[in-house]
Amino acid sequence: MGNKSEDKAVFDTDSANQMVNKLRASFVAGKTKSYEWRVSQLIAMLNMMEESEPQIVSALRDDLSKPELESSIYEIAMLKNSCKLALKEMKHWIKPENAKTSLTTFPSSAEIVSEPLGVVLVISAWNYPFLLSLDPMVGAIAAGNAIVLKPSELAPASSSLLAKLVARYLDGSCIKVVEGAVPQTSALLEQKWDKIFYTGNGRVARIVMAAAAKHLTPVVLELGGKSPVIVDSGIDLKVATRRIIAGKWGCNNGQACISPDYVITTKDYAVKLVDSFKCELEQFYGKNPLESKDLSRIVNPNHFDRLSKLLEEDKVSSKIAHGGQKDETNLKIAPTILLDVPINSLIMKEEIFGPLLPIIMVDKLEESFDVINSCGAKPLAAYLFTNNNKLKEEFVAEVSAGGLVVNDTTVHLAEHNLPFGGVGESGMGSYHGKFSFDAFSHKKAVLYKGFSGDSSLRYPPYTRGKLRL
Ligand code: NAD
Repeated sequence: MGNKSEDKAVFDTDSANQMVNKLRASFVAGKTKSYEWRVSQLIAMLNMMEESEPQIVSALRDDLSKPELESSIYEIAMLKNSCKLALKEMKHWIKPENAKTSLTTFPSSAEIVSEPLGVVLVISAWNYPFLLSLDPMVGAIAAGNAIVLKPSELAPASSSLLAKLVARYLDGSCIKVVEGAVPQTSALLEQKWDKIFYTGNGRVARIVMAAAAKHLTPVVLELGGKSPVIVDSGIDLKVATRRIIAGKWGCNNGQACISPDYVITTKDYAVKLVDSFKCELEQFYGKNPLESKDLSRIVNPNHFDRLSKLLEEDKVSSKIAHGGQKDETNLKIAPTILLDVPINSLIMKEEIFGPLLPIIMVDKLEESFDVINSCGAKPLAAYLFTNNNKLKEEFVAEVSAGGLVVNDTTVHLAEHNLPFGGVGESGMGSYHGKFSFDAFSHKKAVLYKGFSGDSSLRYPPYTRGKLRL
């Protein structure tokens, strides 16, 4: 950011206001609305990801020790896929959609026109700093909006690289990045936006929503929660275990919003499951996982302490069935399995967001639904491993979550035909694929009438005869 007034050190309400005014002027001038502009920005973003892959991988290594493969797949390839999909489909998404009309408006025709909202704010989180910043922007650009991005200060190398790359590749008269923490975000939140897209925790989401309410600004809130995994017996245990591991420790060492938070299984099956975890975890991360290059570190000392406290609670520390090793200097925590954790322990009350995996034991698997519902808040995701069709049906009918997956974990995130978002405490609104375009569009209802067939029914005088018709 070359402009001093946009420097994060001096970024205040006035500079935020000036920035929004300039972006609004570009929007009002129609710059972002043209199809060509949208295409040019999406191509530029695609080039940015392709040409900057080594820098992105390096920033993610600095911020999180994120393994290169995880960076390449979950931050870079997924984003490139989003850009390519938008470039391929945008022409169809933009087209007005014909709507049916009824007798009430006869004779008429109708259409639904997708209109850009205006100037939008994207506030993103630290755990997938590139994907969570740029993926919403793909939708906002495709829909024809001007954008301010506020990346997370907790991933500083990524935030700084995002600011540099966006300024270098994208149109600075319509798209800006503001780096910073609470003061800068607060200055931004005082402005009038046409949409705020926030990814992060529920506490800050309430601050965002309160600020948005002052201007009647709509919000998308992508939050988290305790995403459960129910494991039935009679399954391919090896495959199930590997898929749970991939969703938990293979996603930023558990620091992902849809990572499995805890497992529920029957008392009979729990020991078998733990043995399978031990065997597969050792194959993946070796005998000393703290030295594995394939596990991210914990983001910072605060989160390291938070996770340590969860593990040190008396009710929990005695339940370690595997792992438990920590390296405070390097902020590493090994994959840790906790067997038979009491439901009233701290670890079962808050989102874990780290490499600890409690296993809850029930007599019958059907009791799992009560366990999930007793956690209070609706999770962002819920998973079930089973071959039992009746259980699958009950799972879909009885578990309310942002998204469900049967016989895998986290992969629904990569399915662009499905909306991605939470419900209740795990968020509101959704995105991905066309849903991202819709999240940043107003669906304008347009009804066309001619001059024929003008019934006198609705015009005064309102006679009794008209009432009877
Ligand atoms: P974070 O600390 O990076 O905060 C998110 C954003 O909020 C940052 O940009 C930060 O600057 C801003 N912020 C922080 N305090 C603020 C304040 N007082 N006022 C205004 N803005 C403020 O990330 P986090 O919240 O620790 O992220 C982890 C949470 O996010 C977890 O709950 C996780 O499940 C959730 N999450 C959800 C998704 C999703 O797609 N649904 C993705 C990733 C993370």
